[in-house]
Amino acid sequence: MATKKTRFEGTFHGGLAGKCFMARFRMSEMSEQAKYERFMREAILEALKGDVSKTSPNPLVGSVIVESGVVVARGFFESDGGPHAERKALADLGRTPLPGAALYVTLEPCSTHGRTGACSEAIVKAGILEVVVGTLDPTPAHRGAGLHTLREAGVSVVADVLVAECEAINPGFAGRET
Ligand SMILES: [Zn+2]
Repeated sequence: MATKKTRFEGTFHGGLAGKCFMARFRMSEMSEQAKYERFMREAILEALKGDVSKTSPNPLVGSVIVESGVVVARGFFESDGGPHAERKALADLGRTPLPGAALYVTLEPCSTHGRTGACSEAIVKAGILEVVVGTLDPTPAHRGAGLHTLREAGVSVVADVLVAECEAINPGFAGRET
């Protein structure tokens, strides 16, 4: 560490080299949580493209797929009975995700075979190995079940990212029908 300090001493307080060094330093310091929140905000923006009069009684949900720090696919729940946000994001990607691809979704992926099939299983089948979730499904029978399906299949799951913001997308929402 001491040698490194000496090496950067000359440019640290000014000049392009110093700035580049600082930029790299900040990137590596950006916490995982900050990364999750940044892309969850993208998923929230997707959710808000929906129109609750068309999705009712189901909630607005948004999803993005991130590869190497870039959003490469997006999807939102558009109409009751239609494909869920996660499926739309997978369809938008239209190919096998790269290793390390992460799917972000504002609401826990569904676990039951409703009219459109379980999204948690579709995510596993697609080969996504990391899922970042905003809020859990408030429906008592479904709460945590989607995450369980994902974890059982070996998917790394991060939950409770921007919970309040994700809940605010669907005020008063107490549970969904698939
Ligand atoms: Zn679903």
